[in-house]
Amino acid sequence: MIPELTVDIDSVAANWSLLAAAHGAPTSAVVKADAYGLGASLVAPRLLAAGVRHFFVAQLAEAVALRPLLPGVMIGVLNGFSAADAGAYTVHDLLPVLGSLPEIEAYRTFAARIGQTLPALLHVDTGMSRLGLSAAELERVADDPGLLAGIAWRYAMTHLVSAEQPDDPVNAAQQVRFAAACARLPPMARSMANSSGIFLGPGFRSDLARPGAALYGINPTPGRPNPMRPTMRLTAPVLQIRTIAAGEAVGYNASWTAARPTRVATVALGYADGYHRAASGRAAAGFDGARVPLIGRISMDLLTFDATDHPRLQPGSRLEIIGPAVPPDEVAGWAGTNGYEVLTSLGHRARRRVGAL
Ligand SMILES: *Cc1c(COP(=O)(O)O)cnc(C)c1O
Repeated sequence: MIPELTVDIDSVAANWSLLAAAHGAPTSAVVKADAYGLGASLVAPRLLAAGVRHFFVAQLAEAVALRPLLPGVMIGVLNGFSAADAGAYTVHDLLPVLGSLPEIEAYRTFAARIGQTLPALLHVDTGMSRLGLSAAELERVADDPGLLAGIAWRYAMTHLVSAEQPDDPVNAAQQVRFAAACARLPPMARSMANSSGIFLGPGFRSDLARPGAALYGINPTPGRPNPMRPTMRLTAPVLQIRTIAAGEAVGYNASWTAARPTRVATVALGYADGYHRAASGRAAAGFDGARVPLIGRISMDLLTFDATDHPRLQPGSRLEIIGPAVPPDEVAGWAGTNGYEVLTSLGHRARRRVGAL
C-alpha cells in the first residue's frame, strides 16, 4: 500500500518533438535533478531514442551517472568546472559550462597539463546575475582573446530571466545583450531559450534550445492553454475510511472540523513524498473523474480527504494526487510554488513504473 509514480516516457519524447518543432532549430533536453523528479535513468534513454543529441544536467555526478545511458552524445554540466574533479570530464567525455574567468583559467590549465584542447560551453550573464561572464569579464576577454585560447568552444550560452512572462521587456533586453556579447567573442554557435523561451518567437531561436520543464508537462506558456502532454501520474491508496460526527476535527492542530457527518479517507502519502505541506486547506485529488477535497493538515506520511460525496471511494482505492487530472501547475498554485518545485520534490518512496497515462 504505497504511492505509485507512473512515468510516461513516450509523452516526454513527444513533448521534446513538439518543442524541437516549435524551436525550428536544434534542441537539447535538460535532464537535471533526476529529470525534474521523473527519473533520469528512465527518461534520458527514451529521449536518446527519440533523436536527442544534446543533454544538460546541473552537476557533474549527474552527468557521470548518465554517461553509460547516453553514449556518444553531448552532456553539458551547467554548474561548471572544478579543478578538483577535472579528470572526470575527460574520462566520461563531459562538457563543462564555464561561467567566470577563474573557471575558464582552471579549465585551460587542466587542458594544457594533459596536452589537449578540451571542449566547453561559455556562459554569458545577460541579466540573471548567478553564473556566466559578467560585463566586466566580457570586456576583458574581448580585449585579450588569449584568455579563451586552448579551449574548443562549442556554444556561447545565456539563460533567460522571465521567459514565461512574454510581456516582460527583460526578454528583448537579454536578446540584445546576448547578441552584443557574442559579437565580441570568437565565432561559435549559440544557445539561448529554455522551455518558455522557445515560445517567445523567432528572435529567441538559437543553435541549441535548452528546454527542461516543458518536456515533463509543465506549461511553458502560463495563462494560455498548455501545449504539452502530461507525463506523470502520482497515485496513493486509501488506507482507511471512517465516519466522524459534525464537530469532530481531523489531523494535526485540528485545522479542519466537520460541519456534517463526514467520511474521512486516509491516504498513504505525505510531505515526505514531496507533497508540499503548504497546500493544506486548498488541495484536492482526482477520483473517478471528480475532485475529492483534501481536509486537515498534510502530514509526513498521510493525507486526509472528505469522501462523503464519493461513496465509491473505499479502502484500497487509489487517488490521483498529481497527474493529468490534477496537473503539477495546479498543485503548485495550492502550495504557493511552481510546477518545477512540485515535480523536483517527488520523493523516492513511490514505486516508479514506466507506462502510458
Ligand atoms: C534549468 C535550466 C534550463 C531549463 O529551463 P526550463 O525552464 O526548465 O526549460 C535551461 N538552461 C539553464 C541554464 C538551466 O539552468
